[in-house]
Formats: sequence, C-alpha cells, structure tokens
Amino acid sequence: MPNGQPTPGLLISERWASGDGEHLLKVSAPFGGQLLATLRESTPAEVDAAVTQAVTTFAAQELSPFERARILRRASELIAERAEDFARSIVAEAGKPIRDARAEVARAVLTFELCAQEATRQAGEVVPVDGTPGSENRRAFTIPRPAGVVCAITPFNGPVNQLSHKVPTAIAAGCTVVVKPAELTPLSAIMLVQTMLDAGLPPGHVVMVQGRGETVGQQLLEDPRFAVYSFTGSTAVGAHIRRTVGLRKTLLELGNNSANIVHMDADLGLAAKSLARSLSVYAGQVCISAQRILVHERVFDHFAALLAEQVRALIVGDPSEESTDVGPMISLEAAKRAEEWVAEAVADGAELVCGGQRDGQFLAPAVLTRPSPRSSLVCREAFAPVAVLIPYATLGEALHIANDTEYGLQAGIFTASLDVALAAAQRLDVGGVIVNDASSYRVDSMPYGGIKQSGTGREGVRYAVEEMTDSRLVVLNLQQPVDEGL
Ligand code: NAD
Repeated sequence: MPNGQPTPGLLISERWASGDGEHLLKVSAPFGGQLLATLRESTPAEVDAAVTQAVTTFAAQELSPFERARILRRASELIAERAEDFARSIVAEAGKPIRDARAEVARAVLTFELCAQEATRQAGEVVPVDGTPGSENRRAFTIPRPAGVVCAITPFNGPVNQLSHKVPTAIAAGCTVVVKPAELTPLSAIMLVQTMLDAGLPPGHVVMVQGRGETVGQQLLEDPRFAVYSFTGSTAVGAHIRRTVGLRKTLLELGNNSANIVHMDADLGLAAKSLARSLSVYAGQVCISAQRILVHERVFDHFAALLAEQVRALIVGDPSEESTDVGPMISLEAAKRAEEWVAEAVADGAELVCGGQRDGQFLAPAVLTRPSPRSSLVCREAFAPVAVLIPYATLGEALHIANDTEYGLQAGIFTASLDVALAAAQRLDVGGVIVNDASSYRVDSMPYGGIKQSGTGREGVRYAVEEMTDSRLVVLNLQQPVDEGL
C-alpha cells in the first residue's frame, strides 16, 4: 500500500471505493509508527447503501450449499497462495510477530476449508410429533434456513482470524454479511474480502464498511435490517450491543482474565513453558492469554523460578524479525496502561519477579507474585504481557479463586491426576477447560466462547454456522394414515 494514500476500503456491489467521508482513518504501524494507509470513514449514506445491498442480495439470490462450498474452498486455496502477503500485512498493521502472523494465516486457510465442508453439512432433524395423541397422522422435520443479514464487527488483535470466524461462516450458512473491521487494522480485512471476491463470491454477499465504532459501528447497531450481530471485542462494547439491538440474535466473544491452575502434581517444566508463551503471545493481547496463574503452595517458589526463567528468555523486538517472540503493544496508551497496572500491583504488595519495564510501545513480559486480590491485574482484563502468580492450599481454594471473577471464557489446569482434571472441568465457570495446556489453546473447529461477562454464543466453524442458521419446523398433516396408503 502506498504510504498515506487513500486506500479503497468500502465495498458495495463490485466496486471498491475510498468513500466520501470527511473523517480520515490513519492506519499506522505499531512498530516504528510508519503511516501505512489512510482510509476515509464510510458516510452514513454509504453505510446505509451497504446494508441495502446485503439485504437485497439476501432476498434475491440464495447460493446453493454446493456453490457456497465451492467458493469457500477456492478462497481457502487463494489465502494459502497469498499467505506471506497476509502475514506481512498483519505484522505491519497489528505489530504481531511474523511467526505468529503466519500461524494466524494458516489457521484462516483451515477455517475457510472447514466452512466449505460445513456449507454442505447443514441438516435438520425428524421430530416425532406422531407420538402425541391426536397427531398420529402427522409427520414433522426441521430444515435449516439462513438467519438473514449478518453484521460482523471485529477487534484489532486477530485481523484475519476474527474475520474468518464471521464472514465465511455467514456465507456457509447462506447469509449475506456486512463487515466492519477494527479501525486500527483494516488492511488485512480488505485483502481477505478481496480474496473472497477473487474466489467467485458474487457481489452483495459480503459488503464492507470502514470506520470507528462510535460512528459507523453505532449506525450498524441501530439498523433494524440485521438479523444477527456477530461481535468480537471488549465486554463494554459487547454489553452496549446487547442493550442496543434488542431481541435480535447476538454472538458475543468478549474479554477474559484467564485463570490457569498449576497443581502440586503438575509437570512444572511443561507448565512453565506453556504459560510463558501464553502470557506473552502477541504481547498478551489475546483474550485467552494466561493472566492469573494459581499455583499450589508446595511448588510455588520452584514454579515461579521456572516461569521467570522462560519469560526472561523471550526475545522482545521488531515483529518482522524471525526470532522475535514479543512485539510492541497496539498503542502507546495500551503500553502505558499496562505499566501503570504493574506499578499499582507492586504498590499494593505484589513482588515483581521479572519484566514490567516499558520502552515506548514495548512492555517487557512481566511476572508478579502474591498480588492483592483488589489489584487491576487480578480483577480486570490485562490484555498485556503480564501474569500474576497466586498461591493456594487446596484444589477447592484454587477453583474458588479462579471463579471469583466476572469473566468466564477459558481456563487451564496442569495436573497429573485425572480426578483433579475432571473435578476442575466440572467446577470451573468457563466456556472451555484446557488440561495440561494453557488457557490460550484453541483450534478453529472447537466450540469457543464464554459465559458471564465473556459473552454469549459459540464460535468454532460448526457452532458459528449454527448461530447464523434458523431451524424451521415443517409439519405434514397427512390426509390418510400412512399404512392405508399402501
Ligand atoms: P473494542 O471493543 O474496543 O473494539 C472492537 C470493535 O468494536 C471495533 O471494530 C470497534 O470499532 C467496534 N466498536 C466500538 N464501539 C462500538 C459501538 N458503539 N458500536 C459498534 N461497534 C463498536 O475491542 P478491541 O480493543 O479492538 O479488542 C480487544 C478486546 O477484544 C479485548 O477485550 C479482548 O478480550 C476482546 N477479544 C475477545 C475475543 C474472544 O474471542 N472472546 C477475541 C479477541 C479479542
């Protein structure tokens, strides 16, 4: 993309445009601050036209399941062919280290393929209404129907991955979709939508608008023509969406302050390695990254030393370097806020074991021990490369601490005992419990989502497609008993 030149970001029909909006969206690199592109924010009239296009297409042209699958499979192939361009774009606009950016693109290749498969697997079920007295002559079944026009709104931290769980899933379900990517990272999203067009998706099935949440996002929430809102982002915005869109379906993937339990019988080396990676991957700007690590008191000091050793070995630097483990945070404000939370925890009695120093947008990955339960690093979502170690005496106490939060997305537990693992799985209040791996384990076929303030609904291809599908019941009132028709 030429530096600072207006970049086409608004897609209605077959036409990419840079929009007429007064407001400019400047896309800058978190590493080095280079201006990557300037987009014009979509005007209210353009947003309205985008929704109209998706509504009209939905009413006029339903793609057959085979056609959906063919296009999504082709898109998967094209993403694979363009993988390095996608990865470089993620590095530039999100500051994600290149190895992680490549992994994100590889996931998208698979997610699109899974969407292609799911498109041809949509099935209903037979409903045994004839078991009800008076209905002996009736038969019933359900058919899957696309829910309508989907509004997809994504956050900055997975510019390709988040879109891949919203747009191709909507297409697989037979919906049309209006997408608004995060204003900080719109460039990879533009590439992804272009790739879907190149794969043969007819105009109008996906349309794209650009802009800030409080303007363009808000207009989308207030548009009554959407049937489903698929949103990934902060809990505050998720709650606002829920209040605004009323009875319409919402799929909300929100924040977390993930708990990970390291029990006394755990493989401590494995736990330290997994958790060091989990707390620092993409500078901790991952909704399921390890934040609260609950460690049995008998192994606490030993584990703290092992974890610190792993964390100190992480290479912090230029995200385009192959060797980099941890890049910059998304903004200076985000890095400053994380630095403040570390200082607050230390002032409140926590011991800083390693890291925590800020250099511009970089925060050295940090481990703290024995924080006050009141500190922000315990109670709130850090979204930074920081974890706190909290000692516990019994499994019951660990489960109580883990659940003592408004969030409930995923949790991890390290233990050699099946009994302990299953007890935790039953009693942790979260959408997913990961055993002998960190809370940040995720593959794209698994059901993924939270409870409490972490959201509602599930992503993971099959589950997202279900959320965008209505199950319609069909009841046949047969005019003569089935066996009399013989
Ligand atoms: P954010 O909530 O600030 O923004 C997300 C999106 O919402 C952006 O596109 C933004 O423009 C839009 N938005 C903001 N205000 C809006 C409004 N009034 N109406 C409509 N749209 C609006 O989140 P972020 O800072 O981009 O991302 C970080 C957050 O995302 C963290 O809380 C993280 O936990 C969460 N997240 C969750 C998951 C998950 O799967 N649960 C995955 C990734 C990120």
